[in-house]
Amino acid sequence: MAQPTPAPVRICPSCDGFASAAITLGGRDQNGNRRTITAHCRTCRGTGTTPPLRTLLDTAATAAFTRR
Ligand SMILES: [Zn+2]
Repeated sequence: MAQPTPAPVRICPSCDGFASAAITLGGRDQNGNRRTITAHCRTCRGTGTTPPLRTLLDTAATAAFTRR
């Protein structure tokens, strides 16, 4: 079967798409829930993907053309 063109989403190379992870601290809080903290990837800011290349190009072009 032919596969459709994949969506132009670039998985973040720093976290392989796992942008946030719940880290168990151990023990439970007063409500009986596990105590966890959520860590977000710094590269993609928790999205798991990198910005489309087009966005970067537009940003670069804007900077170039607004220069006097
Ligand atoms: Zn990431």
